[in-house]
Amino acid sequence: MSKVGFIGLGIMGAPMAGHLVKAGHDVTVFDLDKDAVAKLESQGAKGADSIAAAVSGAEAVVTMVPADPHVEAVYLGEDGVVANAPRGALLVDMSTIRPDTSVKVGEAAKAAGQRFVDGPVSGGQAGAEEAVLSIMVGGEDADVEAARPYFEIMGKTISHVGPLGAGQAVKAANQLLVGGIIALNAEAIVLMEGAGVDIESGLDALAGGLAGSTVLQRKRENFLKRSYDPGFRIDLHHKDMGIIVESARKADVALPLAGQVAQLVASARKLGLGDRDHSALLAVIETINGR
Ligand code: NAD
Repeated sequence: MSKVGFIGLGIMGAPMAGHLVKAGHDVTVFDLDKDAVAKLESQGAKGADSIAAAVSGAEAVVTMVPADPHVEAVYLGEDGVVANAPRGALLVDMSTIRPDTSVKVGEAAKAAGQRFVDGPVSGGQAGAEEAVLSIMVGGEDADVEAARPYFEIMGKTISHVGPLGAGQAVKAANQLLVGGIIALNAEAIVLMEGAGVDIESGLDALAGGLAGSTVLQRKRENFLKRSYDPGFRIDLHHKDMGIIVESARKADVALPLAGQVAQLVASARKLGLGDRDHSALLAVIETINGR
């Protein structure tokens, strides 16, 4: 069993770190939130009071923080992972960030004699808790194979999709699909309600046909109860829509619907829903319709 440092114990990172502990790894955790560290300690992890302490002597380091600035700070800061993890350590960032940030951090790690892969995930809080995440991995073959045993503890579908940064490119595509499908489900609900249809039976019918989806299955209760506890926060999806729009510009491709979904997510933030689950796009469509 290996010595693992784990940074970022939020909605996703806490259960993921918990699975590594349960699998028998010697896991040292750090988060800015001391309560989050204490919770993992109660599950058998060791708590650290800095990133440096969490990664010192680690064979592998896993990070799960919100966005690009956090990943840059966690890896490249003076107290950061690259400066303090041993040479040869395997560094695995599972946050959702821009592909070029992954490449930048990976190059810094390589210069320090470390190995780095990007492994963003899909499957949400339930996927993290049940260890059935889909993990989209970018990196060199040998590094990805070295990371695979850790991924298999936290996820179910492990896909090596290309070189460093490629995992993030696929995750951007994933977020475009998830945001778009939530938005269309929201419009479908408002359409059915406008027609006086019973929503529960309407959603049953949709779920049983071609329009059924994992998104509808997972977000059905949020939609029906208008309960938007996260889950996946609108603020994080806003960050992801920015990555998608930027990636499209870089790749010189036109994605007209991505622009619309991005503006819908931005509208949710402006309506004060930034810390709500992304199923709250339904509240935006309802607001537009005066409901
Ligand atoms: P979260 O906000 O719940 O957790 C992030 C954690 O990182 C927090 O506990 C925060 O204190 C910690 N953190 C931030 N900066 C830090 C630092 N410098 N040092 C140590 N800890 C730090 O976010 P989340 O929902 O767990 O998402 C994490 C990442 O996973 C994001 O990139 C998100 O886009 C992605 N993601 C989330 C979901 C989801 O359903 N929530 C699903 C797939 C992917």
